[in-house]
Amino acid sequence: DAYLAAIDAANPQLNAYVAVTPEKARGMAKASDQRLGKGEGGALEGIPLGIKDLFGTEGVHTQACSHVLDGFQPRYESTVTSNLWADGAVMLGKLNMDEFAMGSSNETSYYGPVKNPWRAQGSNLDLVPGGSSGGSAASVSAWLCAGATATDTGGSIRQPAALTGTVGIKPTYGRCSRWGIVAFASSLDQAGPIARDVRDAAILLKSMASVDPKDTTSVDRPVPDYEAALGQSIKGMRIGIPREYRVDGMPEEIETLWQKGIAWMRDAGAEIVDISLPHTKYALPAYYIVAPAEASSNLARYDGVRYGLRVPGKDISDMYEKTRAEGFGREVKRRIMIGTYVLSAGYYDAYYLKAQKVRTLIKRDFEEVFAAGVDAILTPATPSAAFGIADQDMAADPVKMYLNDIFTVTVNMAGLPGIAVPAGLDAKGLPLGLQLIGKPFDEETLFRTAHVIE
Ligand code: GLN
Repeated sequence: DAYLAAIDAANPQLNAYVAVTPEKARGMAKASDQRLGKGEGGALEGIPLGIKDLFGTEGVHTQACSHVLDGFQPRYESTVTSNLWADGAVMLGKLNMDEFAMGSSNETSYYGPVKNPWRAQGSNLDLVPGGSSGGSAASVSAWLCAGATATDTGGSIRQPAALTGTVGIKPTYGRCSRWGIVAFASSLDQAGPIARDVRDAAILLKSMASVDPKDTTSVDRPVPDYEAALGQSIKGMRIGIPREYRVDGMPEEIETLWQKGIAWMRDAGAEIVDISLPHTKYALPAYYIVAPAEASSNLARYDGVRYGLRVPGKDISDMYEKTRAEGFGREVKRRIMIGTYVLSAGYYDAYYLKAQKVRTLIKRDFEEVFAAGVDAILTPATPSAAFGIADQDMAADPVKMYLNDIFTVTVNMAGLPGIAVPAGLDAKGLPLGLQLIGKPFDEETLFRTAHVIE
């Protein structure tokens, strides 16, 4: 009830939820009470969560915040949310996001932008919460849920977590099942939690992760007790600092934050090592070929026949055309056009195949560093603090918006786990985050190390 009241009070301002499910929440909470009364209950009994609108939730609004999915309520539940409910968690509702998870500011949502609960000191300017999981990050930051699900294809868990002072982890590709989550770029998409602290993120990920016969890319490995990793010393751990992440035009405050993080690691007994990830500079352009290519294919199914919106036309082609023209927003159309172009005969080798090769090189860079004894890599999470809604520069030039993902996309390209952890405030009082990147399936080291920073 307290969370539902908080949503009622703050959501008209923040726009973090696109659907609130009070009846469901109260019913689930009651069932939790009964289980607890009988001395039963799972790890998340009674914990109220917000769910990103990308997760299929049975009989509940699931529209990836797109007009093209108007009215869609699936008859299935995603594996990740099923796992959470099986552990006793309670659903408060569905959270706003960039349309089909394409964006870094939550401004591409059909339901309008989410406002960051944080503002710069002495300013009335509304800031973005980051994207695409902007609703997840804002709702956790403003206490409109105890934790939230999110997804990360190129930074969409970590970047909004960093811009709202919350913790977000993208686990290793394959750690969580993608089944029942609306697909954006299937070889990059991963689910993970956004939470108020590292401990909450550890508890949530433990529940979300599982192998799943319905997703053949999910991996059959035991899910460790991530919480047990917290509080363990990082003495003797080798933390890599990649020199290629010192990008041109990086603001002073980000460099300062990074240096602070390095000092904290050193004080905790870790050994700091300079490392090189030489193909870093190609990650962003390669990502913005691979992700749209996969998206253009995944989004072909929204044709007015099977889901959501249908705009009538004089024949079936006309109906497809009108539905897609009206149903998709500008950014989604841009991605479909880029994706279709780079996959088309004559351009496939020059763009898509080249980007896949670059992806392999990026992955190898990381493998070499880890093989040389590095345990985790420390970088800033974002190249700046939260920026203003309707930022003129970014509106005029989508590539400027894409630059927000510069520190996060490499991790998706390599399939590695990455965590964003709050690391202090900038001069204007806005949160900044650091990122830790780990070896495949070594989320424990990330939790352990992030706990030292928070
Ligand atoms: N900002 C990136 C994009 O727009 C990442 C999105 C994501 O991780 N879902 O593609």
